[in-house]
Amino acid sequence: MARLAAGLPSRSRLTGRALEERAAALEQEWNARFREYQVPPDYLEVWWDCPRCRDTGWLGPDEKCSCLRQEEIDAAYHLSGLAPEMLQQTFEAFRVDLYPEEARPFMEQVLRECKEFALRVARGLPVDNLVFRGGVGLGKTFLSSAIANTVLQAGRTVIYVTLADLLDLIRRYKFDTDDEDALAMLREADLLILDDLGGEKVSEFSLQELFALVNHRIVHRLPMVVSTNLSWSALEEVYTARIASRLMGSARLVKLDGEDIRLVLKRARG
Ligand SMILES: [Zn+2]
Repeated sequence: MARLAAGLPSRSRLTGRALEERAAALEQEWNARFREYQVPPDYLEVWWDCPRCRDTGWLGPDEKCSCLRQEEIDAAYHLSGLAPEMLQQTFEAFRVDLYPEEARPFMEQVLRECKEFALRVARGLPVDNLVFRGGVGLGKTFLSSAIANTVLQAGRTVIYVTLADLLDLIRRYKFDTDDEDALAMLREADLLILDDLGGEKVSEFSLQELFALVNHRIVHRLPMVVSTNLSWSALEEVYTARIASRLMGSARLVKLDGEDIRLVLKRARG
């Protein structure tokens, strides 16, 4: 009411006191009408989804509200390409005890390094790329998921893509420029996880696009996690020496050996 009074023309003959009385009378009238029509008395008050920031998303010029951060996280999760079961694959859920006893100290160390990597990416600090090498079922995808979940929780963008999906995307992009956005996301995401670099033949065009992507990310110091079951020489053979050395150069190589963890898991369940 004070603001309303201030907004009145200065030549108004209503004095301050008369205004107050008029306002009080109006309020009584409103309340009577509300009762009459059974309207809740707070009907005219504004309801915010988030009262903290009044739905602006910001608490200050540089301070995001938790609702905006959550929205960003949800959006990032949605775009991440993580399958539903991968959301459960966190560092906390990683079971070192499922590995053979002699492999556990090594796996503990791998786990520590992966956490360190994830936390650095989550904080936007520079890191060396991470390359997992090993057979099927040794935890490469689990560790990649755990890294992804940590980075996503920090509100950063992660794209998880298998090489097969990536090549499919590149093929479609060749014929349909609508997929340019998807490729841009692969280039710009805070973290790119490239899973399952296998031995299948890759076309010349796809190799060029793959090199452009990898090179762009390395030049811009945008981290990647790559997993493959191929040896160095096989990697060079399938993906060319140029891509292999770009991917592996200055990357931290984690070699996972041993029994298929899924077999161990099955046996543990009986
Ligand atoms: Zn808010």
